[in-house]
Amino acid sequence: MFFVWSKQVQVCNNKMADGEVSARFLLGVVAMATLLPACRPQDLQRLLLVSFDGFRWDYVRRVPAPNFRALLQEGVGVEQIESAYVTETFPDHYTLVTGLFAESHGVVANEMYDPDLNATFAPGRPGSRDPRWWDGAEPLWVTNQRAGHGSGAVMWPGSDVPIRGTYPTRYLPYNVSVEFEERVRGLLGWFSRGGEAEEQPPIRLGLLYWEEPDLSGHAFGPDSPLMDDVIADVDAKLGFLREELRKAGLYERVNLVVTSDHGMAQMSPERVVELDEYLSRDQYTWVGKSPVVGILPREGRLEEVYHALAGAHPSLRVYRKEEIPERFHYRHSGRIMPLVLAAEEGWTVVQNRSDGLMHGNHGYDNALPSMHPVFVARGPAFRQGYNKTWARSVDLYPLMCHILDLPPAPNNGSLANVRDLLREATPPPTQAPPPHVTDPTYARVVGSLLGVALVGGFLLVFLRQVTLRQLPATPIGNMEISRPLLQDHLEI
Ligand SMILES: [Zn+2]
Repeated sequence: MFFVWSKQVQVCNNKMADGEVSARFLLGVVAMATLLPACRPQDLQRLLLVSFDGFRWDYVRRVPAPNFRALLQEGVGVEQIESAYVTETFPDHYTLVTGLFAESHGVVANEMYDPDLNATFAPGRPGSRDPRWWDGAEPLWVTNQRAGHGSGAVMWPGSDVPIRGTYPTRYLPYNVSVEFEERVRGLLGWFSRGGEAEEQPPIRLGLLYWEEPDLSGHAFGPDSPLMDDVIADVDAKLGFLREELRKAGLYERVNLVVTSDHGMAQMSPERVVELDEYLSRDQYTWVGKSPVVGILPREGRLEEVYHALAGAHPSLRVYRKEEIPERFHYRHSGRIMPLVLAAEEGWTVVQNRSDGLMHGNHGYDNALPSMHPVFVARGPAFRQGYNKTWARSVDLYPLMCHILDLPPAPNNGSLANVRDLLREATPPPTQAPPPHVTDPTYARVVGSLLGVALVGGFLLVFLRQVTLRQLPATPIGNMEISRPLLQDHLEI
């Protein structure tokens, strides 16, 4: 805490280095007296990013979900987030923490083949923790640590890998048998106390992963009534997290971002494409899993394989790599195979149906609403009671970097697309909620405006006196007193 406060004072002083002593003193008094968000939030920002795997954006509408709703009222929501293609767990979790499309960060699928490494990646395989699968990008925790801060990750995909030579400051390696409650207690402990030996300061960035409702979504299908209880249980887990944050005194001090990697679509045993009907297995190597599958034809057989599959089934798209639609941003990686098969929404592509079918799946076109995840956030950096309809998952990395005051690594996102979620943002006129006199938020806004007006008046009168008496040669406009202290050097 002392470190944070010291840095805060330093930032404020840097911004006023050219000011006169009396003006600096006056500004300090005014800022502290009015609690303007000039210095304070910038240096106290902490961030906890939570992913409930496969939590589709509209799940919160089918059960009461009081904890998601509370976050929406206390903070912000984005109705639908457009995930990156392909809409799978590993690629999209890496997109969330890098702001890069899969072709750029290199984790192009849950299962992939790298011709240069001559190796195959699949979750659970020992080789999947080889950093070369991940080193194409710099995840947020590495960015945070480069800036001298602590990070903690609980089972976030990739966080148990030394990416670019760096593990998170604190992390729990993936272990499906560790309960949600245990994951939360471990992570919040790092926010409060730091390392066990107390030589590590508390973390500033936390990442938390939970497998549901993805597992149940695959098993039951999103349309199953059984999913209602699963969604209610995830909401209760969010309630547990909120309560533990409160108990730790962190609820008002941490920016809590709750989202997911992708949505979920309903499958059917009637909607299956079996590749064996169209092509002999000795013609190609199958890479990945339905609904998006890489096909590596045998040497010199590419066109032959392509023509055997193109148009073979109306619900199966067949792309040469260079013909994959630009909007997918899914061409420029050696890990994307020369041919890519993409099943239509709700369809499964397998070699043979004996390979096994699921009731729910994801991986489809990222423009489909069924593939869009939930997003809610609250905390000192976020506005209150504000909703927008759409954003992209690549935009969340520059947003989080901005909140944490970190220089972002090169990325595909845009802070401008999501800046309106921040408390510092000027509300866009078309999306501002209508004022209402009984709304406590409105009352607070009016109160704050009156306070600012009073202090502003006082400031003007006082400054006039000061400048007339002590600073006759310095025009007020050069004193930097009116310059926002929240300097924005992160826009990219
Ligand atoms: Zn899944």
